[in-house]
Amino acid sequence: MAISDSVASLVTSEVDFDAEGRQTGFLRVPHSVNRSAYGWIPVPVVALKNGPGPTLLLIAGNHGDEYEGQIALTRLARNLACDDIRGRIILLTAANFPAAQAASRTSPIDAGNLNRSFPGDARGTPTQMIAHYIEAELMPMADYAVDLHSGGTSLFYPPTLLRGQGNSPDETKKLTLLQAAFDLPYSWVFTGPGGRKSTASTAMGAANRNGVVCVMAELGGGGCVTPDILYQTERGLRRVLHALDMLPGYTPDQTRGSRELNVLGSVYAYDSGLLEPLKGIADDVAVDEVVALIHHPDTPWKQADEVRSPYGGIVLCKRALGQVERGDAVFQIAQEFRASSHKGAGA
Ligand SMILES: [Zn+2]
Repeated sequence: MAISDSVASLVTSEVDFDAEGRQTGFLRVPHSVNRSAYGWIPVPVVALKNGPGPTLLLIAGNHGDEYEGQIALTRLARNLACDDIRGRIILLTAANFPAAQAASRTSPIDAGNLNRSFPGDARGTPTQMIAHYIEAELMPMADYAVDLHSGGTSLFYPPTLLRGQGNSPDETKKLTLLQAAFDLPYSWVFTGPGGRKSTASTAMGAANRNGVVCVMAELGGGGCVTPDILYQTERGLRRVLHALDMLPGYTPDQTRGSRELNVLGSVYAYDSGLLEPLKGIADDVAVDEVVALIHHPDTPWKQADEVRSPYGGIVLCKRALGQVERGDAVFQIAQEFRASSHKGAGA
């Protein structure tokens, strides 16, 4: 499995995960620098435990510029009473804390992208140490995990659940239960393999390698907080807790249903300039259709460049920024989910 499994984490937890009741504090990630020779980076952690039941690991701030999840988990950490729950909930509200503090996808300390850093390294950079702690210490405690993302600064997603198809009938049943409970308008179903032999460098890969039933969510983006998406995030989390029999007193409202998609690929810019999108979220796109124009105010006599889609389907995700360079994703195109197709994960 993970190469770093045999090396113990240098991260210490102020929280006793086995204790009953509410525990709050920090994961201390050692960080020895000029201004603090014996210092540590404080990754906030909250654990709620009330008797027997499953353990659910909730992660936000995996990418620091994705906000709905960070707010939703912060509110949940404050408002959930231990008496309300059954089992154990572990909340990381700002998993890559230096990135979250900088409102940045990656850590300003080591340029680490946490969701590309698993299984991590017990003796690595701060981001690698956080990844290792989540994979080697937290995931083994968990039965279920939910990792909350958004499009970050550069992209915008409608509320979308992400899941694998499961590697056993039992896992498939649990994944579809979580999808139905979260009840987001879209579900992106990965058609690549997951399971214990997953080589994915994401938190979902860490979950899969530990046998933890895991879903992700993409919740807005564009560097801002969208109140309706935040509402759907908070509603979904409580519905998930209820579906796992961890929040028995909650009465879920009526299920709205989720459109299952799988992603065909991204449409990329091949020119630099100012992007004029010609499509919006959920719009239909035909193969070779012009989906955006790239304008050149610096050379106004030059024709706008056309961006054509190599895929036919619907727009799942769009670029949130006006400026583009060659290599930037402009749209992500998806199709109605078909279990036989094979396209991998993202996010
Ligand atoms: Zn993310």
